[in-house]
Amino acid sequence: MAVALTMSSLYAPTLKEDPSEAEVTSHRLLLRAGMVRKVAAGIYTFLPLAWRSIRKIEQIVREEMDAIGSQELMLPIVQPAELWHESGRWDLYGPELARLQDRNGRYFCLGPTHEEIVTALIRDEVRSYRDLPLSLYQINMKFRDEARPRFGLLRGREFIMKDAYSFHATQASLQEHYDAQAGAYSRICERLGLDYRPVQADSGQIGGEVTTEFMALAESGEAALVYCDCGWAANVEAAETVVPRSPGVTKPQPLVKVHTPGIRTIAELADFLGTSGHDTVKTMAGKTAEGRLVYFCIPGDRELNAIKAEWAVPGVTLLDEDDFAAFGIPKGSLGPVDPPADTLVVADKSLEDEVAWGVGANQNDYHLLGAIPGRDFEVELWADLVLAQPGDACPVCGGTLKGTRGIEVSQVFQLGTRYSEPMGATFTAEDGSEQPLIMGCYGVGITRSLAAVIEQYNDENGIRWPVAVAPLEVAVVPLSVGEDVVYPVAEQIWRELASAGVEVVLDDRDERAGVKFADADLIGWPYQVVVGKKGVAAGVVEVKTRATGERVEVSIEEAAAMVAVMVRAARG
Ligand code: ATP
Ligand code: MG
Repeated sequence: MAVALTMSSLYAPTLKEDPSEAEVTSHRLLLRAGMVRKVAAGIYTFLPLAWRSIRKIEQIVREEMDAIGSQELMLPIVQPAELWHESGRWDLYGPELARLQDRNGRYFCLGPTHEEIVTALIRDEVRSYRDLPLSLYQINMKFRDEARPRFGLLRGREFIMKDAYSFHATQASLQEHYDAQAGAYSRICERLGLDYRPVQADSGQIGGEVTTEFMALAESGEAALVYCDCGWAANVEAAETVVPRSPGVTKPQPLVKVHTPGIRTIAELADFLGTSGHDTVKTMAGKTAEGRLVYFCIPGDRELNAIKAEWAVPGVTLLDEDDFAAFGIPKGSLGPVDPPADTLVVADKSLEDEVAWGVGANQNDYHLLGAIPGRDFEVELWADLVLAQPGDACPVCGGTLKGTRGIEVSQVFQLGTRYSEPMGATFTAEDGSEQPLIMGCYGVGITRSLAAVIEQYNDENGIRWPVAVAPLEVAVVPLSVGEDVVYPVAEQIWRELASAGVEVVLDDRDERAGVKFADADLIGWPYQVVVGKKGVAAGVVEVKTRATGERVEVSIEEAAAMVAVMVRAARG
C-alpha cells in the first residue's frame, strides 16, 4: 500500500481564492484543495485526492459490512419502471425520481435507492426460511433529482451511497441484524473521526417505522436536532413533543369577538392583545386527498410539523394560495369556531389542558377570545403536531431538551413487508406457510460523509484530515529543489517513508516556501516533513502535525521511522 507521489505530477489544481459558488466550508475547501469540480448542479467530478479519500471511506464501510456478514454485490443504476409500478413508488416518488425512456419507448429510472431491484432479485431466488437471513450491500452511484441541490457534496443529485438490504423470516431476526447494522454505523462514524449522534428519525419516502439516523454534528447541518442529557436524541421532524405549558394562564370566560384590524400573524395578535403567544392558538389549513378541509390548531408560538400533520391525517397537504381562494377562507384569521361545514378540526395535544383559546374568527380583521373546546367548538382529533424545540421536555425523562444541528450521514430502517408484500416476495416458513419476507435497509452517504468530515476538521488555512481518511498521510516539503543538499535529503526521507508503507507525497515543485506551506495546509496533509538548508546543516528536519500545529525537530536519520510510527498510531 506504499504510495509515493510528487506534487509536480499530482493532479490537484488548488485555488488561491475562495470560489464564490461555495456555500459551506466543506464545499469551499473541496474546490480550493483541487478535490472536486462541478459539472452541473449537484453533479461533480471527483479528482484524484477526493477519490483517494472516498476509496478509504468506502473501505472502512466495506470492512464493517463484511464484519457483520453482509455480502457485497453490484446492482444496476438504470432500473425498469415495471418494478417501480409493482412497489407503487413510480407514482409516489415524484420529480426526485429521474425517469428516462430507451429507444423502444420503455420507461426506466435512475436508482435513487434500490429496494425494488434487490427485492425482485430475492423474490426469484429465495424460497425457504432455510435461505434466511440474508444481507446484501453495494457501494454505488445514486441519482436523485433534488429540488435544491446545494452545499457541494452534502446535497448532490449524483452521489455515492453504500446501501444494504436484509431479508428475514422473523421480526426477531430483522431486529438482530438491524442492531448489528446500527452498531456497524456507529463504528463507521468513529473510524471516520466524526463527532456524531444516533437520533430518532422519520422514515420518509422509504416507508417503515423503526428507524435511526446517524448525525454528524455541524452548524452547517440541514437537520435540527434536540437531545437530552439522558441520552435521548431526535430529529425535530420526528421528535415526540412535550410542549411545556404555563398552567392557569387562562380561565373560563365568555366568548368575545374583537376587532383586530390588519392583524395577520400570531405575533401581531399577541402584541395587540398584550399577551404572550401562549394564549393564542394558530390555525393552519390543509386538505385531504379527497378534498376535505382540515384545520390544524397549534400553540401560537410553535411551528406546525408537516410530517406529524401527515401522520395525524394521512395524505393531507397544506393549502396553497389557490386553495385558500377555492375554499373561500381568510388565510390570516382561521379558527376552529364555526369553520366551513365538514371541516376536520385537529388540535395539538398540548392544548388539551388549555381552558380558553384566542383564535381567528374565520373573518378578516376579527379574532375570538375565550374560545373553549367542547363549548364553542369541537376538536375531532388530538394529536402531536408541532416541531420539537430546545426547552421542550424530554419525552423519556422529562429533562430539558437542548438543540443542535446535524448532517445526516447514514440511516437504518426496518421496512417490514413494505416491498415484499406488493412485489410478491415470499418464502416458505418452517410451518409450511407462504409468508412475505421481512426486510430492512441501511444507507451510508459516502460522498456526504467525506464532506461531513471536512465540516468537522478544518481551520482558516484549510482541511485538517483525520489520518484514516486523508488522501495521503504525509508530505515531504523541501524548501528548495536546486542543486543543493536539501532536495536529496527530502527525496531520501520520501523514499524511506514509502518503503515503510506510508502514503507520502514529495513537494518537488520549484515554488516559494510560502506557496508550498499554503498548499500543504490547504490540502491538509496530516504530517508535513519540512526540509530546509539550516536544518540540514544541523542534521535535522521539522515534523509538523497538521491537526495540532505542533512542530518537532527530528534528526534526518530518524525522521522517516518516527513519522511512520506516528502515522500508524493515528490510522485507527
Ligand atoms: P435527506 O433527508 O438528507 O434528503 P434521505 O433521508 O432522503 O436524505 P436516505 O434515503 O436515508 O437519504 O439515504 C441514505 C444516505 O444517503 C443519507 O443518510 C445520506 O448520507 C445520503 N444522501 C441522501 N441524499 C443525498 C444527497 N442528495 N446528496 C448526498 N448524499 C445523500
Ligand atoms: Mg435518510
